[in-house]
Order: sequence, then structure tokens, then C-alpha cells
Amino acid sequence: MQDCLFCKIVRGEIPCSKVYEDDEILAFRDIHPQRPVHVLVVPKKHMTSLASVAPEDTAVLGRILQKAGEIARAEGSVEGFRLIINSGRIGGQEVDHLHAHIVGGPNPVGPMLQH
Ligand code: AMP
Ligand code: ZN
Repeated sequence: MQDCLFCKIVRGEIPCSKVYEDDEILAFRDIHPQRPVHVLVVPKKHMTSLASVAPEDTAVLGRILQKAGEIARAEGSVEGFRLIINSGRIGGQEVDHLHAHIVGGPNPVGPMLQH
């Protein structure tokens, strides 16, 4: 995906504050952190949204979940964290490359949804 922002970050064409990387996934700090810990975890392979993933993407999605706790702890969110995957227009997704937000820090992140 030539013009995708997070594909450009994966390819190293746009800098990021990297916190974890392996063959399948990349994690980097959100540029506008909403909590003391705010990390984005993306599959290196472009996939647009959790609203439209393919069966063959199951393993990398599992990898994102499996690594989230380790990344959160390493960033200083030692007593838990929240994982958010905004999906599609209804979910408020702004960047069309699937990403999971890890949010946390020393204090509770707050109510799940604001009314
Ligand atoms: P979403 O609304 O779920 O699509 O979230 C997109 C997130 O990407 C927002 O929290 C932005 O602050 C973040 N973001 C946008 N551009 C960058 C960037 N270049 N590096 C890191 N985070 C970014
Ligand atoms: Zn992409």
C-alpha cells in the first residue's frame, strides 16, 4: 500500500518511536498520546480494518493480542492496560491500516465509553 501512513512507518519511510518489532508486527508510541502509555501495534502486512480481516490473518491478530501485555509492562503500565481497536466509520477509525491502541499508565484509564 503505497500511500498508507502505517505502511510507510513499517517500511521506515516515516520515523516512529519504536517499542517492539518482530517479523509480523511493529509497535510504536502514538504521536498524540492520550494516556501516559499509548502505543500502537500494527501488523506489518497491510490490512485495512478489523471490520474486514481474512481468515489467514488470524495468526498475526493473535500475535498482537499475545504481545500487548509485554509491551504495556515494558512501557510502564504494570498493573494492566486497555486495548482498543477502532474499526471502520462507526468505530471512529482514522487511519485505514489495522492498529491496536495500548493505553495505560500508573492510573486507571477511566470509563470504557463516554456518553
Ligand atoms: P484511530 O483513530 O484508531 O485510527 O487512531 C489513529 C491514531 O494514530 C491516533 O491516535 C493518532 O494520534 C495516531 N497517529 C497518527 N499519525 C501518527 C504517526 N505518524 N505516528 C504515530 N501515531 C500516529
Ligand atoms: Zn497500510
